[in-house]
Order: sequence, then structure tokens, then C-alpha cells
Amino acid sequence: MPADFPISKLLRWFRHHQRPMPWRPTASRPANPYHVLVSEAMLQQTQVATVIPYFERFIKSFPTVDALANADEQAVLTRWQGLGYYRRARHLHAAAKAVVKEHHGQVPDRAKTLLALPGVGPYTAGAVASVAYDTPEPIVDGNVARVYARFYGLHDAVDRPDTLKTLWSLAQTNVTASKSPRDFNQSVMELGALVCTPKKTTCTACPLKQACKALAEGTVDRLPVKTPKKKPTAVTHRVLAIYRQTQRGRRYLFVQRPAQGLWSRMWQFPTDETANADLAGDLGLKIAPPNPVSSFTHLTTHRTVRFNVEQARVLSGRLLPQAGVWRPLNRLVDLPLAKPQQQAAAQVAATHYCA
Ligand code: SF4
Repeated sequence: MPADFPISKLLRWFRHHQRPMPWRPTASRPANPYHVLVSEAMLQQTQVATVIPYFERFIKSFPTVDALANADEQAVLTRWQGLGYYRRARHLHAAAKAVVKEHHGQVPDRAKTLLALPGVGPYTAGAVASVAYDTPEPIVDGNVARVYARFYGLHDAVDRPDTLKTLWSLAQTNVTASKSPRDFNQSVMELGALVCTPKKTTCTACPLKQACKALAEGTVDRLPVKTPKKKPTAVTHRVLAIYRQTQRGRRYLFVQRPAQGLWSRMWQFPTDETANADLAGDLGLKIAPPNPVSSFTHLTTHRTVRFNVEQARVLSGRLLPQAGVWRPLNRLVDLPLAKPQQQAAAQVAATHYCA
């Protein structure tokens, strides 16, 4: 029989220690379900402090679910630029369209209905239903799993299906027993983010310390157990910044990525991911021998990508129709670029302006 979870103590702690967040309901600011939905999309794989300025900028551009549903995809991606994991932005855009089309512009209040929206999994559905509508829906994310694995002393890997089932069941029991599902769910996540952290855990400040199994048995540093991840594959991409010299300065060529796959429909310098493409020739251009600019590494979920950046001037030829756009490097605000391409553009600009 698992120990009783000290719900009241945790809620008391939350009232004093919660961080202000622009989407978080307060006594003077009622819950806005659209804001909660946007924040949850942004918070996947990203820390609160990083998300706040992006959230504020995004809400300024798309203040309502209707505004987002009616927006152009490129505008949505541009506003998301820098947050990474762009599939989340596309899913959020599609979810807003579904809310307008199928739910009269009202974000659903039940996890089961929310689950049918694009990109909404069990965690997001539970978070939106509980935080926006105060309904007793459970949530389990990395923070919650860590708190429960330690508090209840769960020694099986938290990503195993049977352990996940246990975690969801504990989360359901606790949120149902709490008087405020909204505050309860937020308080477990906040404890995981501020006190029951992966490293440098501050158990002395924890409201759960008197009943915590991991603290009693001395296993805080060993929990939660996770299945070891596969090593990411190492690949190399060649980025070629091709430019035309015009009377008003250099114009660089940007091409759009395909509709499928990583960074789909975002823009970039012509980039070779296969190590045998004729980047300029395939676009109808003849270029001078490229000069190296920089090299850097970017991590994606499953890969370590080495980007080797070069630049080269166009000597002759004509860009194939619809193949790309020419832009000065200081006018890219309406072209959504993935983070490594932004980095490449900044490095090309630095060499150009230093030259
Ligand atoms: S006592 Fe320590 S390990 Fe236990 S829940 Fe609190 S912070 Fe986590």
C-alpha cells in the first residue's frame, strides 16, 4: 500500500513558492484555456524561463485561438523561431484550426476531447483540462515522474509501460483526492522543477520529506531509473551560403525545405545532407570556389549534426524558377529558419562584416 501523499502540505508550499508565469491563472487573472494550450505546446522539451518571452511574443501576434487558426503557417513558424522542435508549432496551429472548426472556438475542457486535437498527448490533455478548467485529470511528465518515483520509492525504469501505468494511476488517485486539481497538478510539477530536481535536490526544503521513501532509504540520487538511451548517430551537413554581389550589397540565396521530415517547410542556405550534391549546379548557378566560414555541432533528438559552413559568390547562371529567394542577411525576419541555419547566417554575416 503506497504512503499517503501529503497533498495539503504540498499545496501550502505551492502557494508560497510558485513562480509567476504569464499563462498561470491567479486570483486576479482567470484561467485562459487558449493561453494554457499555447504554453503547454511551448513547454514540451523547453524550460519555463526560456518559454516566457516566446509566449508573450506569440500571444501578441496571435491573441486568440481564432487569430492563430486564421494565421499563415509561415507567420506561425516565424513567431516560433528559436524555440526549436517546430513540429509543435505546426501541431498547435492545426489544433487551433480544429478548436475553431469543431468546438466553436472553445478549447475543450475534457482530457478525452482534448486528446483528439493534433499534437495533444495524455500529458498535455491533462494539463490543459486541470490548469484551465480545474478538472481532476491526472498528469505525468518528467518532473512529476521524478517526484513520484522518489516519494514512492519506485525502482523500475520510469519509461517502462508498467511503471508508467503505475505513475498515471498514482497521479489520478492524488488529483482526485485534492480539493484543487489545478493547483495540485501545478504544485507537483513546480516541486519537480524547483526542489525535487534531477541534481542538487534540496530535500531539506521539501514539503514531502517526512514521508519520502527515497529520502528515508538514501536513494534520492539513484531515482528515477531510466532505460539507457541509444547513442545519437553522427552526421555531417555542408551549408553553402551562395551570394550575388549587387549595388545594394550582398544578396544570399535561401531555399525552402521539403514539406516532410525535420524542419519541414522552413528556410535555409542550400544544404547538402548526402555528401554528394552539387548544390549550386542543381539550382542553375555557377559559383567561385567556396571559402570556409565555420563549423559547429547541433544536437537533434536522435542525431549529432556537424554543420560545415562555406560561402561562395555566383559567377554565372540563372536561378531556376521558384528555386529560392535572394535576401540580405539583415532582412530575414519573415523567413523561418531552424536554429542551426540561424547560427550559420550569423556566422556568415560576421565574416562578411569583418571582411
Ligand atoms: S524529499 Fe527529496 S527526494 Fe523526496 S520528494 Fe522531496 S525533494 Fe524529492
